[in-house]
Amino acid sequence: MDQKLKGQIAIVTGASSGIGAGVSKSLAAAGATVVVNHPVAATAAAAEGVLTEIKNAGGAGITYQCDVSKEAEVQKMFADVVAQFGTVHILINNAGLQRDSPFQEMTLEQWNTVLGVNLTGQFLCAREAIREFLRRGPVPEISRATGKIVCMSSVHEEIPWAGHANYAASKGGIMMMMKSISQEFAPMKIRINSIGPGAIKTPINHAAWATPAAEKTLLELIPYNRVGVVEDIGAAAVWLASDDSDYVNGITLFVDGGMTLYPGFSTNG
Ligand code: NAD
Repeated sequence: MDQKLKGQIAIVTGASSGIGAGVSKSLAAAGATVVVNHPVAATAAAAEGVLTEIKNAGGAGITYQCDVSKEAEVQKMFADVVAQFGTVHILINNAGLQRDSPFQEMTLEQWNTVLGVNLTGQFLCAREAIREFLRRGPVPEISRATGKIVCMSSVHEEIPWAGHANYAASKGGIMMMMKSISQEFAPMKIRINSIGPGAIKTPINHAAWATPAAEKTLLELIPYNRVGVVEDIGAAAVWLASDDSDYVNGITLFVDGGMTLYPGFSTNG
């Protein structure tokens, strides 16, 4: 693969499974040194597995345990990565979870857990990344942009989702945080964009594609008629992190097989 990210340090949050693992491998294949973040001791082995795959493919990186919803842990992760590698060039703000519930039964804990990881976690990591980008300043021979942030949003920043109000609210929040800080830091040559995945085969939505019957129902929502895979998101992340997208600021790139095209209207409503 073309080494479009050669010499760059990338932190990928929530990278011990699913999209984060896939994006880590894609970034490493494009030449980045990848910090494979995972939240707790129980996810360490899975993160090591991702790193082993990266190294076996000729890439480089480390694993790093940090709960992105905890300010002190996030600050320590960035400080340690900068101490080890000198700086950070790319943040993939990917960590996320669901705590689904009918709204009238949703507990404050379910609400706070989802907002705490999905939205506050992205705020804490983006803030540390921007502080580091501003401290380091531009290095044009590495990248035209001083730093790049890719926020993992969802089609649910746009499509309402009954029974998942906390999750949809977190993704809607990511959209406006991403656009606001993109506006704020574009003059400093910092590019911030989102990816809005549709249905991608990962542990978070296993029940939705695990059986042929479930997958058939899911495909009714996808005009392109296939469920996505993590490589679809990896390719988009490499593009948004590379100079190929140097004139792209503050967008959500939906990678969703057309899920946001309202396929329910395809037979004339
Ligand atoms: P996943 O469950 O495999 O990945 C989520 C990762 O986040 C896990 O590795 C988990 O350990 C990590 N994580 C959870 N809490 C964390 C914390 N406090 N600190 C650090 N890491 C933490 O599911 P996924 O599908 O790969 O999800 C990745 C991202 O993609 C999420 O933000 C999710 O909302 C988004 N997304 C996924 C889909 C899909 O169809 N799979 C669709 C739209 C958006």
